[in-house]
Amino acid sequence: MARVQLKRISKKFGNLEVVKDLDLVVDDGEFVTLVGPSGCGKSTTLRMVAGLEEITSGELYIGDILANRIPPRERGVSMVFQSYALFPHMTVSENIAFGLKIKKRSRGEILKKIEWAVNLLNLEGLETRFPKDLSGGQRQRVALARALVVEPDVLLLDEPLSNLDAKLRLKMRAELKRIHKRLGATVIYVTHDQVEAMSLSERLAVMYEGKLVQVGSPLEVYNSPRNMFVAGFIGSPSMNFFDSKIIKKDGSLFVAFEGFELAIPRSCESKYSGYLDREIVFGIRPEHIYDKRFSKTESSSGNTIDAVIDVVEPLGDRDIVEAKGEGVNFTLLLEPEAKAAPDQPTSAVFDMEKSHVFDKN
Ligand code: ADP
Ligand code: MG
Repeated sequence: MARVQLKRISKKFGNLEVVKDLDLVVDDGEFVTLVGPSGCGKSTTLRMVAGLEEITSGELYIGDILANRIPPRERGVSMVFQSYALFPHMTVSENIAFGLKIKKRSRGEILKKIEWAVNLLNLEGLETRFPKDLSGGQRQRVALARALVVEPDVLLLDEPLSNLDAKLRLKMRAELKRIHKRLGATVIYVTHDQVEAMSLSERLAVMYEGKLVQVGSPLEVYNSPRNMFVAGFIGSPSMNFFDSKIIKKDGSLFVAFEGFELAIPRSCESKYSGYLDREIVFGIRPEHIYDKRFSKTESSSGNTIDAVIDVVEPLGDRDIVEAKGEGVNFTLLLEPEAKAAPDQPTSAVFDMEKSHVFDKN
């Protein structure tokens, strides 16, 4: 197993720099996900680790060895792509055995490994089938099996679940977690799906326009997003943002909007005091705005907006609700018991303890 270190890694295609000074350490046995919108440089970064893309500048270490110039096959990494290309003319077993044959392992060892992988990935009974006779999920698992049997120090996975239907994707997520726990391999996973990233990883590395913006555990990133991009990208539905200003009246701080003010409780004054008299963006997640009847924080005139419900999207366990009040539109999550319906009034309680403030610049 091995630690992977990226030191100021950059990648240019011609004059276009698509990965910029990326610094990241993935510990031995850790599961880290590169997450960010399409085109932000995730696959390019992963391909540089795999050796499929030349590194323009910076240093890549796998274990303690400088790997920039090491050929892909000698890096001890296995990669699974989004379009998991299985060899169509080979059976499941032959596909799985491919990497081992190249490495000239003995027949006995190859058979043992196939059995192990088939068992691990629940592929029993499919060994002699060809890829065309497999479902998407089964093909996906064969691709994983093929990557795992060579016992890579580092497993690189690029959107490996994106071609699966929703139900199977959930199942494979759990399966991947189990495999990781069992094998203890270092995993670098790439996805644009923030929910998948949150649910799978020990740490997230959030990328935006070729740069790493924040690295942390899923909860750290969710609770303390470094900037508005991360705040809006991590969490579903997305955080509400309001242009506003921090003001002081009679010794108390307020978030001031066009026509109304939200009182900042003493307990979170320190978060806001540095922004006094400045234009800010106030952020609050939909799950931290409550209907007064079900509020998880005390409601008062200082934190409650009388609003009217506009649109309701029922999810079963909760409703995503768009509402409008005091001249602002916002999204909140309500329990089904609130019986949210369009045009119905709601007293929306803002949980100021869970709010966020961003410098407008
Ligand atoms: P992601 O995986 O995050 O969606 P990619 O790493 O695939 O993003 O791509 C990052 C950027 O680099 C994109 O703007 C893409 O168009 C560009 N890019 C990727 N590969 C090449 C290439 N071979 N030549 C030129 N530009 C490329
Ligand atoms: Mg990609």
